[in-house]
Amino acid sequence: MSTTGSSPPFRFKSLSDTVAELEEETSGEIAKLLKSNSDGITNFIFCDKAEHLPAVIVGLKGSPTLFLDCEGSRLGIKTRRLSLISLGIPAPTPQKQCVYLIDTLALGTPELRPIFDLLESSDIQKVVFDGQMDQSALFHEHNVTIQSVVDLQLADIKSRRLRGEREGSPEQIGRLWPYLPRNKVASKASLYEKVHKLAGLGQALEEHEVELNEQQMERKSLFSDQQRWIEHPLSRLHLQYAANDINLISRLWGHFVDAGYIDGQLPEQSLRYIRMWNNAQPDDDDVYKRHALLPLAILDAVTSRTKECTVCQRLLPESSFSKTAWDKPKDRKCLVCRAIVIRVQRENQIQDAIEREGDYYDSDGSGF
Ligand SMILES: [Zn+2]
Repeated sequence: MSTTGSSPPFRFKSLSDTVAELEEETSGEIAKLLKSNSDGITNFIFCDKAEHLPAVIVGLKGSPTLFLDCEGSRLGIKTRRLSLISLGIPAPTPQKQCVYLIDTLALGTPELRPIFDLLESSDIQKVVFDGQMDQSALFHEHNVTIQSVVDLQLADIKSRRLRGEREGSPEQIGRLWPYLPRNKVASKASLYEKVHKLAGLGQALEEHEVELNEQQMERKSLFSDQQRWIEHPLSRLHLQYAANDINLISRLWGHFVDAGYIDGQLPEQSLRYIRMWNNAQPDDDDVYKRHALLPLAILDAVTSRTKECTVCQRLLPESSFSKTAWDKPKDRKCLVCRAIVIRVQRENQIQDAIEREGDYYDSDGSGF
């Protein structure tokens, strides 16, 4: 299947092109930075000074596609702090990838405006993975709404259909374990046909068999504590991690383009997905917003009558509820919130058992 729809043509901008442009426009100063910053996998420019931003724009401009990722402390939730915006452009090989890392704590909103213009441009496609928290942080901290976006986390879900995984099939239902209790799901499988388990970036790369080296595969173990993203100055390890993530997103995107997984509907679906928290950021402990299941009515636009889910407060069509729940005047849970309630109940049971007996054997094999 070929790439369809509104995706701009794939265009390479090589590292040498970038360096040449930068040398020309900045008398060589920024190009020196670029040449000295590499983790052996990804070249990057770190920008924490306003006077360097014009050169960053030179490096990014003209590309119809930008890879985007954000880092921060508890990114996108109420106690958030956006720390770093990472941007990359398509490159012919991973070794030629150049990533621009912009320190948002060192630069203020007015200084960052040229970067925000790129994010808000409808003519430049932004490629993200799990862009909800990025969009939430950008909107609530800087009043920025990303336009023209494809979220590879959604493309991954859609690719499952293309790979023959029907809704309600053992493969689709099986993905929900151990995140949800196996016995509960198995006993009422029809209520989980529209409940999709989201994959993380590492999981997606592995499942799609995108070849990575050891250094790239170990990247997630580097920063388990997100608080460290507001420590300044950011260490070289932080920057390498952020640059590597852009490299990984670009690798997955290249794979998805080749496989025909980037279709014409994905931009509209991605916008629906990443803007879900624009009206209100979730609290840190809001398990009904911060979970690993795909929210309903993201892949399919709502065109019929809706009712509000009393848990997530979203207006959803009849297909998002069980028959019983749809007819309820109150306490009406959508299928995803219903699943999360069951997950929370299991967690509470496990916690109670640990407190009571000091130990717990999970016969469900959930690995909790
Ligand atoms: Zn709900």
